[in-house]
This record gives sequence, C-alpha cells and structure tokens, in this order.
Amino acid sequence: MDTPDDPTSDPFGPPTIPTLVGCLHCHQEYESYLIERRQEPDSDGVQRWWWCCPVPGCGGRGFGFDILPVDPAWRSEDGSSGWVYDEEDEEDDDEFDDEPDAPPPPKKDDDIDIPW
Ligand SMILES: [Zn+2]
Repeated sequence: MDTPDDPTSDPFGPPTIPTLVGCLHCHQEYESYLIERRQEPDSDGVQRWWWCCPVPGCGGRGFGFDILPVDPAWRSEDGSSGWVYDEEDEEDDDEFDDEPDAPPPPKKDDDIDIPW
C-alpha cells in the first residue's frame, strides 16, 4: 500500500477552515494552517506522513491529538469536535441508589400547653 499523501484522508489533518490551535508539547498557539505535513518514522520505524507542530524542535504531532483547537467549543465543518471527550456520555445517570438522603422530618415535640 502506498503512503497516502492525501491530506483529506488523514484524521489528524487540520481543518479546512483555519482556527487558532495550541500545542500540548510546546504550549505555543498558532493558526492551524501553519501545521506542517512532514514524513517521519513512527514508533515502528515506518515512514509516515504526520501533521506536525511548526515550532522548531517541538515533537507535537496530529491535529486533535497533540495540537488542539484553543476554543473548546470549536467544531469542524462536519460537526465533530477536535477534542477527545464525548459530551453525550453525561446523561446516563439512572443508576441511582435508593438511599433515602432526605433527613427525617424534624419532630415537633414542643407540645406546649398554652395557659389560657
Ligand atoms: Zn509544539
């Protein structure tokens, strides 16, 4: 299989519309169009194309991986987030314990006889 040099097939490619991104490695911020496409060996020594942080000496790679949009509300054109978390996980909280957590009603023992 040839190395696909098609930017649109790379899940870690920068968005079509540039956005301000920050690098987790060097903590620099820059526009996403500055992310560089470079061929470097991966951990297995296989030459691969990477989207790399443009900051000299920084090893940050991959939009949505080491390089993330600065704005957490950012969405790409297809509506997906560059962030890893999925906010749709938050509604599954029907595993409540049946513990009564309301305090018992206060006992009224101020049964004072009113001296008429
Ligand atoms: Zn960097």
